[in-house]
Amino acid sequence: MTAHLNDERLAQWVLGDHDADAAHHLAHCDACRASVVEVGTYIGNYRDAVLSGSDRAQIFWAKQRRAVHERLRERRLIPVLRWAYAATMVLVLCAAFLVTRMPRPQRQVVTPDSADDVLLQQIENDVAREYPIALAPAALIAEERDSALATDGETSSNHAIHKEQNR
Ligand SMILES: [Zn+2]
Repeated sequence: MTAHLNDERLAQWVLGDHDADAAHHLAHCDACRASVVEVGTYIGNYRDAVLSGSDRAQIFWAKQRRAVHERLRERRLIPVLRWAYAATMVLVLCAAFLVTRMPRPQRQVVTPDSADDVLLQQIENDVAREYPIALAPAALIAEERDSALATDGETSSNHAIHKEQNR
């Protein structure tokens, strides 16, 4: 009976390297056959551990990929919100600009002394007519009010102009 198979030869046997000497020894040695089973089990467990490890790695990378995608989606959403906010702010600023440019309704008792004020008011009204298209309805209201004001002071301003010409 030859010497027992050492670990290296056992591993080689398990991995498929079946040399004649090892085969002869194993045919007659229960201890070495048991060792072969033991080493085979060990290698099988190691292989399973490696495979499950790579499975874990795949899960890890899948999680990483999903996290990256979520971050990208968040970054894509934020500019949209910023644009909506910016657009809203522009509209608000336009409205505020229009409101500040709109002449306040001034019910004046038009006398020859205040004719210049009426003219100034009309010029201001004309200047204030530049408005964004989006705010056309608001501007329309402003124009209506302007025309109402103009009709209100028309007689007096005409009178003032005539008076100016007569001088
Ligand atoms: Zn043996």
